[in-house]
Amino acid sequence: TGIQQLVASKLRDIPDFPQPGVVFRDFTPLLADGAALGALVRDTAARYAGRVDVVVGIEARGFILAAAVAYELGLGMVPVRKAGKLPGKTYRQSYALEYGTAEIEVHTDAFPPGQRVLVLDDVLATGGTAEAACSLIERAGASVVAVEVVLELAFLEGRRRLGDRTVNALLTV
Ligand code: IMP
Repeated sequence: TGIQQLVASKLRDIPDFPQPGVVFRDFTPLLADGAALGALVRDTAARYAGRVDVVVGIEARGFILAAAVAYELGLGMVPVRKAGKLPGKTYRQSYALEYGTAEIEVHTDAFPPGQRVLVLDDVLATGGTAEAACSLIERAGASVVAVEVVLELAFLEGRRRLGDRTVNALLTV
């Protein structure tokens, strides 16, 4: 579709970042382009209008998308952050990285009971980050309507880590 072509044209591949052998998909050209960013935000918001109560963004690029989509929907935004950044009482979840582990957190009182959540991030790779975010949201008493990403690296099978949860990607490689 037009939006997929527009967004794809604004992503660039950076070889050997953050380490040799890895190709990093860089979103900064997309963020810098008002027409492309606006189209992405409006398209995403339109697909979830009336179906969610709040938008969660995963640190750090997810924050940008989530805040914009939440604003477009007239909803609030909740950050899922790397451990040690949120000031209040938190739930913490660790997950496996390719080498080692990472931890993310959400405020325990971030969601009124039963809130319907849209989770946004830029890239779904191994799915570890998104799965940990969903677990935190569910521990905090909310329900995940969908995990929405701009780009899914399908060869890493991240979708499988998310089990029965709905995952949608604008673009897939
Ligand atoms: P995962 O946990 O392996 O699925 O990795 C996904 C997380 O790492 C997301 O929060 C992404 O923002 C980030 N990430 C992984 N690969 C890329 C990439 O190529 N470009 C931008 N972000 C990436």
